[in-house]
Amino acid sequence: MSESYRNVRGMRDLLNKDSIKKQIIESAAREVALRYGFEEINTPVVEYSSVFNKTLGESSDIVTKEMYNFEDEKGRSLTLRPEATAGIARAIHSNGLLGLGEYRIPLKLFLIGPMFRYERPQKGRYRQFYQLNFEFFCDPCPESDVEIISLAYNFLKKIECPINLKINSLGDNKSRDNYKKELIPYLNKYKKELSTDSQNRLEKNPLRILDTKNNNDLDILSKAPKMIDFLSNESKKYYNETKIILKNLGIKYEEDTNLVRGLDYYKETVFEFKTDKLGIQQDTILGGGRYSFEKETINGIGWAAGIDRLIEIISYTKNNYPLASVVFNEELKNEAIVLVNKLRNSNELNGYIEIIYKGNIEKKIKKASKLNSKFIIFVDEKQKVKISNKLNNKKPIIDIKNTDEIIKVLNVNWSKT
Ligand code: ATP
Ligand code: MG
Repeated sequence: MSESYRNVRGMRDLLNKDSIKKQIIESAAREVALRYGFEEINTPVVEYSSVFNKTLGESSDIVTKEMYNFEDEKGRSLTLRPEATAGIARAIHSNGLLGLGEYRIPLKLFLIGPMFRYERPQKGRYRQFYQLNFEFFCDPCPESDVEIISLAYNFLKKIECPINLKINSLGDNKSRDNYKKELIPYLNKYKKELSTDSQNRLEKNPLRILDTKNNNDLDILSKAPKMIDFLSNESKKYYNETKIILKNLGIKYEEDTNLVRGLDYYKETVFEFKTDKLGIQQDTILGGGRYSFEKETINGIGWAAGIDRLIEIISYTKNNYPLASVVFNEELKNEAIVLVNKLRNSNELNGYIEIIYKGNIEKKIKKASKLNSKFIIFVDEKQKVKISNKLNNKKPIIDIKNTDEIIKVLNVNWSKT
């Protein structure tokens, strides 16, 4: 197929059902956001590359392999955003949102939009994909961590997504330094057996090895020292309190000592919601954790959920058929159009109206039935309409100007007819 008819690899069109599911997911997120006091933020899709290089970590998968970088006409290095948090943190700075005034910590923001990563496309992994992001900028405390986890939990419950929560603590800097002192010598013993990716990480960022999806690496890691045994007293207390509050809220979780997350900015609490429906390579539907930027001047906890993966999981049965379709005799076309306009703009009607423009009256009726319309409204007599009810064959005739009466007939409780 010629390029002008093809999608860019890894970038797909979301059609029909998938777009409706996307909208259901986003509406659920907006409803939950409202209940938890989160406000929407929209940042640009394009940022200066330094926004990401600096925050995500020079050795992260995203920065090393996955970014869509390009230069603009003036040679400035720009990037299509691969994730939302770095841009939101940039926006907080650019707009002074942590200062005095309307915005102040705790600052609760959410963002919905497309992200771009140059990855190998497969089911649940695309080069343009959609994310929901929730960010809670606040001083670190276990209560805020649980608040953001419970938000994620209740959002997934709302869209009837099976819930499997994994948590871990990465501790503070001290904890991680102590852990690395044990982990690096252990992994060095197996250096030759590790995957090339993990070998490279051993030098640059050994903790990231825990995030591997390679089975042999996972085997080696199963006997490695565990982060949890190296937590400082403060981090241990923080983690224990977080778990107690989760229990109090009845939120079930499993501890996963290998859970690390892919970016440099995380510390203390990290968490992921997994699914068994998409295969091990794409099994995370939502992930997040506590982070700090700018030498700990910006603290927060947040998560991102992959909308494309949620679309695969949630079920949806199409039920948006026309409440009524209008068919008309050619000489009464104007009357039919005026009626449809009135009905569509009434706040009282419980459904939507279709109008069939083409064909003779028989063809129009056929089309209306094909659309699964509950009622067919006939405009085939001057000043009058006939409303045919698919279920009971009743055909009341009503004055075309009496919109209230027409609406009353259409709004009849369908299950009782
Ligand atoms: P993975 O380990 O699957 O690559 P990740 O750690 O890179 O995920 P995050 O950066 O935490 O993912 O992004 C949060 C969520 O966004 C993921 O849990 C996933 O649901 C979704 N996601 C990430 N990358 C993609 C992608 N390329 N296509 C579709 N969804 C994605
Ligand atoms: Mg990834």
